[in-house]
Amino acid sequence: MQRYPTKQIKIRDVAIGGDAPIPVQSMTFSKTKDIKGTLAQIQRLYFAGCDIVRCAVLDKEDAKALREIVAKSPLPIVADIHFNHIYAIMVSEYVDAIRINPGNIGSKERIKAVVDACKQRKIPIRIGVNSGSLEKQFEERYGRSVEAMVASAMYNINLLEDFDFTDIKISLKSSDVERTMQAYRTLRPKVPYPFHLGVTEAGTSFHATIKSAIALGGLLLEGIGDTMRVSITGELEEEIKVAKAILKDSGRQREGLNIISCPTCGRLQSDLMKAIKIVEEKTRHIKEPLNVSVMGCVVNAIGEAKGADVAIAFGKESGLIMRRGEVVARLKESELVDRFLAEIDDEIKSRE
Ligand code: SF4
Repeated sequence: MQRYPTKQIKIRDVAIGGDAPIPVQSMTFSKTKDIKGTLAQIQRLYFAGCDIVRCAVLDKEDAKALREIVAKSPLPIVADIHFNHIYAIMVSEYVDAIRINPGNIGSKERIKAVVDACKQRKIPIRIGVNSGSLEKQFEERYGRSVEAMVASAMYNINLLEDFDFTDIKISLKSSDVERTMQAYRTLRPKVPYPFHLGVTEAGTSFHATIKSAIALGGLLLEGIGDTMRVSITGELEEEIKVAKAILKDSGRQREGLNIISCPTCGRLQSDLMKAIKIVEEKTRHIKEPLNVSVMGCVVNAIGEAKGADVAIAFGKESGLIMRRGEVVARLKESELVDRFLAEIDDEIKSRE
């Protein structure tokens, strides 16, 4: 499905919305005032393939620390601020974007002061609606529902638009998959701004991966979503790995290998698990989009190989190597993986 056309904004040099690739975001969990620790986490995220990092600002020390963090960070930094407009104004001098809920910043004068500061530095604001921290008036009226989330988003968007500020992106996060999806779907036709997708408090790796794959993957397939974060209670690198896989498998990012492999069954007469492990490890660095298939026997291997750039069909202590369905070698099992990897290299070189 076509992506919804949205306004494009920029966080440092990373474009969000329009026809820009969908950037992956994460958040440091160190105390932001711990500059060394925060920069170490940003470095980890950078090497994992993250595009944008958010840091929480709880107090003045956090706000101050961001100046040095931003200067040394290889990735754009978004300051995450609740309630305190003074910190938002302070960090707007050096961060690349701000995440606030204008509704919990206080009076119109305070919101205007934050908006003016962001306008002056030409940095965007993310309106981050979260079903766990909705403004009182919406929760009292609608409960923690889709209606409440959308009403909160519209209220906050209108506050910014009233000050002629449209450098906006929006998130509508809930820990409930269906509510998250419905909120994004409901708001999508109402505003032109890019959406930051996420399921909040999604849990540990296993559950967060499933929830995010359903919600974020589903929305991406519907053409909704311009940037995203997979929230996992766990390692930072895991968030990026899952987010990238969702982007790839929803067809929104064509990068690296798409590996088709069979689940194995009683017909298997070779060590396919070992082969897949080696293939995954040795191809992790590849950015070129390639379809490859690794199949346990010829039953489905020939059909899959037709749609694959490079394929293996294991047999009994031997197997076939294929390029777009054509057999290019018949080898002993011990030689198959090396030849398969060599054919992948050759395919990439031939494209160059
Ligand atoms: Fe079984 Fe062969 Fe299918 Fe693999 S490809 S699941 S080994 S029938």
